[in-house]
This record gives sequence, structure tokens and C-alpha cells, in this order.
Amino acid sequence: MTERMGIPFVLAAPSGTGKTTVCQLALQRDPLLDFSISHTTRSPRKGEVDQEDYHFVSAAEFRRLVESGAFVEHAEYNAENYGTSYEALRVPLEQRGHDVLLEIEVQGAAQMRERRPDARFIFLLPPNMEELERRLRCRGTDTEEAIDRRLAMADRELEAVRFFDYVVVNEVLEEAVSGVLAIISAERDADEASLEKIRGVYGRGPAFARWQGAMGS
Ligand code: 5GP
Repeated sequence: MTERMGIPFVLAAPSGTGKTTVCQLALQRDPLLDFSISHTTRSPRKGEVDQEDYHFVSAAEFRRLVESGAFVEHAEYNAENYGTSYEALRVPLEQRGHDVLLEIEVQGAAQMRERRPDARFIFLLPPNMEELERRLRCRGTDTEEAIDRRLAMADRELEAVRFFDYVVVNEVLEEAVSGVLAIISAERDADEASLEKIRGVYGRGPAFARWQGAMGS
């Protein structure tokens, strides 16, 4: 047990915003930040490691965990189940005194907002909606119909921005990573002057207004 209780940071984004890359780089660069390892029913992708990227479980096992109250939040996404266990947060936050980064979708983020008042919420945005569409098309793997579905989903996901504390735009990857790390560092230090400065740049109100303004011009 350490003296310090870490802070959970929830990072969500519309599909296609580059959330995973931003999270991976932030985790590499901040030694006091741990990744929250979720449970999922989906199959591992090439290169993914069980217990590191996810706890890959069967649908029956996932149901059992839901029924036993193991999850602080869980949601269905793309016909698969995803959830953050209490244990995934307890070990880094309480045992290691580290902060923890949750890379989750917006329904789960809303549940975290209800259940974890100590959590901070960062929403990652694409530079604009045209760029999001271009990025989704560039994956080259999806059919036209799947792209349309993802765009509609991204539109819905965007509505969740209203309950997030911070907004970071992923136009230049390095800048987005620095933004996320600056927010985490200011919240960790809890120094009012730095927090004020960070809120001026990344606070949801000003940052989202700037993003909308840039899209309109
Ligand atoms: P993927 O299958 O591409 O790894 O993840 C699909 C979506 O599920 C992504 O938006 C990812 O952030 C989200 N996700 C991953 N883990 C969790 C979790 O524990 N809870 C929730 N609610 N969403 C998650």
C-alpha cells in the first residue's frame, strides 16, 4: 500500500480519432501512468496479448462477472462486451499509487461519471468531421456501408462531449499526446495556477468552442 491514491483518467473519442495511438504514447512517456486492462468478449487481434491488452473472456464468463458485480462500468460496442473491473482500477490506484488511463467508449465513460467522482474525463476530437471521414476511409478495410455506420456512430459519440472535463484535438499527434500528458500532470500536482492554465487551453468550454469555430470558418 502506498500513501498516495491515484487518479483515474478516462479517455474517449469518436471512432477513427486515433485514441489508441495517443493512449499508447502517453503511457510510454509517463511512468506514473498505468493502463486499465479491460475485459472483452471480442477475439484477440494479431499481436494482442491476453492479460496485457485485454482480459479476453467468453460471453458466459463476461455475464458471470457482470452478475457478480465485478465491473465498475461495462457496455456493448459493435456486438461485443467491454468492461472495466474494480480490480483493474484498485491495483494501480491503491496498491501502486499510480494514476490510471481508461481507454473506453462513451457509454462506459458516462457510467464512470456516475460512479467515480474522483475520475477526470478527456475527450479526444479529430481536427474536423471531414478529416474523420477521410481517416475512416483510409483504413481501406471497410465497405461504404460500414463507413456510413461508423460516421453515424461518431456523430452520436460526439454528443457525449458535454460531460467531459477536457477536450484535446488530435490534429498533430505529438501535440495531442503532450496535451493529454499536460492535463494529467496538472491534475496530479493539483496546483491551482497550473490547473487554471490547463483549463484555459483544454477545458471543455473554451476548447470545444474553438474546435466548432474552426469547423465553421
Ligand atoms: P476495440 O475492440 O477496438 O479494442 O475497442 C472497441 C471500443 O471499446 C473502443 O472504443 C474502446 O475504447 C472501447 N473499450 C475498450 N475497453 C473498454 C471498457 O472496458 N469499457 C468500455 N465501456 N469500453 C471499452
